[in-house]
Amino acid sequence: MEELSLIRDNARRVLERAAAAAQRAGREVTVVAASKMNDTRRVRAAYEAGIRFFGENRVQELEGKLSENAYEGASLHFIGHLQKNKVKNLVGRVDLIESVDSPELLRLIGRKAEELGTTQDVLLEVNIGMEEAKSGVAPRELAALVDEAAKTRGIFVRGLMTVPPVETEKGKTERYFEQMRKLFIDMGAKKYDNVTMSILSMGMSADFETAIACGSNMVRVGSAIFGERHYDR
Ligand SMILES: *Cc1c(COP(=O)(O)O)cnc(C)c1O
Repeated sequence: MEELSLIRDNARRVLERAAAAAQRAGREVTVVAASKMNDTRRVRAAYEAGIRFFGENRVQELEGKLSENAYEGASLHFIGHLQKNKVKNLVGRVDLIESVDSPELLRLIGRKAEELGTTQDVLLEVNIGMEEAKSGVAPRELAALVDEAAKTRGIFVRGLMTVPPVETEKGKTERYFEQMRKLFIDMGAKKYDNVTMSILSMGMSADFETAIACGSNMVRVGSAIFGERHYDR
């Protein structure tokens, strides 16, 4: 089908662009395809083009596609806002939960992971633009959340994630990315057994090359791979 071949072409192009930006930055970069609202066939098309990481925003949608083996052969991340009552359905099923932003979520995730006899890898989400409606911990509260994470069993913090404000003014997005990079370095100075700052997840379709230039080593790309999302589907 034409639609699927378009996804394959887009995915190859995004992987190439990310690889070129990674080379310029002298860093390895992981491309996570943000596959919300895209069904199993579309996910498999991206896989066929070389995508090996997928990110989902909703637990229920993820469970549905998991049952259809949509992500087979790939690594699966959770990147959306996580509700407390959904933690039990998520832990142990994804390789990385990128969007943890409270001590309570840390505890719930850790408890469930211990119950399963595993450790759950997570990223801490930072609300770098301090936006009202957005998830993520405020930058000045991040250090306390890292300290909290260090005391929580069953979890391993691998780094930070952010979704910066949508900016049109030139240079503004770069400043958010640079603030994140600084936080990432600062938090990396803390020496805890279950906290390392190895992943900095930032950059989406509109700005992933910029994000990579500013220090990102994980980008989450949706529409540039799958096309515009149709929220009425
Ligand atoms: C949807 C989504 C993305 C990808 O957004 P695009 O602009 O379509 O690339 C990245 N991160 C998160 C958390 C998302 O929800």
